[in-house]
Amino acid sequence: MEKKKMSLPMQIVAALIAGIIVGLICYAAHLAAFTAAYLKPFGTIFVNLLKFLVVPVVLLSMIDGIISMGDMKKVGAVGWKTVAYFLATTAIACVIGLVLANIFNAAHLFPVLQNAEGAEWTGKTSQNFMDTLVAMFPSNMWSAFTNADMLQVIVIALLLGGGILAAGEKAKLAKEIVASFYAVIDKVMTFIISLSPIGVFAMMTWVVATQGPEILGSLALVLLCAYIAYALHAVLVYSFSAKAFAGVSPIAFFRGAGPAVIFAFTSTSSAATLPVSKECADKLGAEEDISSFVLPLGATINMDGTAIYQCVATIFIATCSGVRLTVGQMVVIVVTATLASIGTAGTPGAGMIMLAMVLTAMGLDVNMIMIIYGVDRLFDMGRTCLNVTGDISCALCVTRWEGGKVQPKT
Ligand code: ASP
Repeated sequence: MEKKKMSLPMQIVAALIAGIIVGLICYAAHLAAFTAAYLKPFGTIFVNLLKFLVVPVVLLSMIDGIISMGDMKKVGAVGWKTVAYFLATTAIACVIGLVLANIFNAAHLFPVLQNAEGAEWTGKTSQNFMDTLVAMFPSNMWSAFTNADMLQVIVIALLLGGGILAAGEKAKLAKEIVASFYAVIDKVMTFIISLSPIGVFAMMTWVVATQGPEILGSLALVLLCAYIAYALHAVLVYSFSAKAFAGVSPIAFFRGAGPAVIFAFTSTSSAATLPVSKECADKLGAEEDISSFVLPLGATINMDGTAIYQCVATIFIATCSGVRLTVGQMVVIVVTATLASIGTAGTPGAGMIMLAMVLTAMGLDVNMIMIIYGVDRLFDMGRTCLNVTGDISCALCVTRWEGGKVQPKT
């Protein structure tokens, strides 16, 4: 009989459970030092590979996203309204995520890990907003890449993407090069992600062996925090925009978006959900040419759920590391997470790679990602639902702003 290979999500879940069990055994047997010496290094190798991906993925996916907007003159009005809606809702998502994460934090629901108490923060993010602003602009492209200075990499992506659009016909080769390299890095990303069960097992064992069983409760709490934020954002922002801007009742909106939400929950990919989102948006009354423009763009750059996840995870990881963030630093998180979510591809797990970018930009230890890596899929299911719902709501609003009528088809 032919043996069926376990799917990657199942492998990750199996690795997670195995890691927890082995970790608990090592904790009980006082083998924490052993796991730190012989298992954690495999997790570190995996995290290093993820870090290696961050610069090329951000650079190429952002330029590719900008190119996919096409000729800004032609798409003019629709483009600006769409991007404005995306940016505004994503920034609100970040604020909701940060507020909830801070409430959980203030209630001491997030732990400070052992050995992290009183840790020195070696973050390079300045507390001074003007310094941060100045530091965003690169004086040397290569040093931005070699230092993985993500804010600078984003500015470079915006400039190069804008340049490619402005150069028109002459930039044909540049467009093809970006698309081609993006396809290559996408394959490399898929390969590295396929190694994640090894990384998850190694890191989970180490985390549980050194921190004890209490860490598991903390993970459940951080998941709860993210899901409350997802739900709040959907109820507050999308109900409001559906009603106020598109003139559709929230109940009709969520019912209409339902099939796309279910598909997103199981596929954890906005890109894969695209055909279903299109059908839902059109049935809800979006104009076809507008939804054809807004939805693919949204599946590439509009990720409210991802932004919430990145904010919640950043606060959680900062707390675990014994770092208290100031309000100024939270503003930097809003900006970075908004940009990071724009750079996130609509594929499973992509938001976690961009989380590495937010942590790097904040000067937090990227290795800490491994604490939540094992349960990332659970975060991803919820955040992808929110991502596609946001795209559909935007298609309806822009239809209305362009003078169309949003009439749900029954
Ligand atoms: N899976 C998400 C999506 O496709 C992206 C992410 O990982 O945050 O929308």
